[in-house]
Amino acid sequence: MLVILLFGPPGSGKGTQACEIVGLTKITAISTGDLLRGEMKAGTELGRKAQDIMNAGGLVPDELVNAMLVSRISRSDCRDGFLLDGYPRTVEQARYLDRVLARMGMPSPIVIHIDVPPEVVVGRITARRQCPVCNRIYNALYQPPKVEGVCDFDDGRLFTRKDDNEVTVRERMKNYETITNPVLDHYRNANYHRVDGTRAPEVVFEEVAGVLQGEMAYTPE
Ligand code: AMP
Repeated sequence: MLVILLFGPPGSGKGTQACEIVGLTKITAISTGDLLRGEMKAGTELGRKAQDIMNAGGLVPDELVNAMLVSRISRSDCRDGFLLDGYPRTVEQARYLDRVLARMGMPSPIVIHIDVPPEVVVGRITARRQCPVCNRIYNALYQPPKVEGVCDFDDGRLFTRKDDNEVTVRERMKNYETITNPVLDHYRNANYHRVDGTRAPEVVFEEVAGVLQGEMAYTPE
């Protein structure tokens, strides 16, 4: 059983690495950002509450995200473990997750921190495109799809996230620096691995896979 937490600033390649990790480990990947965008699209109460905050690059309140997360990881596809991308983002969320994992009898998380300096990510993010069907991430400059604007896997029409503009990205980066960075201190003495995320995605994944294969060798089924 594996619980993996992926950390990194917006545009660090978390979504791309999450996809690769799923291929390797077969566990379910959960992005709280994707879940919230799904709520917005479905027009639920949570989606309406989150909408303005997300569009401005702020953080959705802990109690809303925590409740959404616990309901998602209680589903049967998470029984053998899961990967979280974009959660926890506050120390309060990290403490909450500790309690939930203990209650569910899940192992302590493996923390993977994809480290990329702020000046690199702003350039990457404005060229980011996402598939609405499978949530795969592309980059119009560095990782384009085979056919412009179309997902390689399911023909979904790629879209640009509303919050992927320069003003909002700067706000998200600021929140990452001030609110989410302290979350890493929460895990610094845990099973923490820093990976240099400035390299090509496949090189980053080679290192991530090395870490996970080491972990899987010691993890009982
Ligand atoms: P992401 O797709 O991870 O970049 O998240 C997009 C947006 O969703 C963030 O800028 C936040 O507004 C919101 N969000 C996602 N995950 C969380 C979280 N764990 N806590 C609070 N807000 C979140």
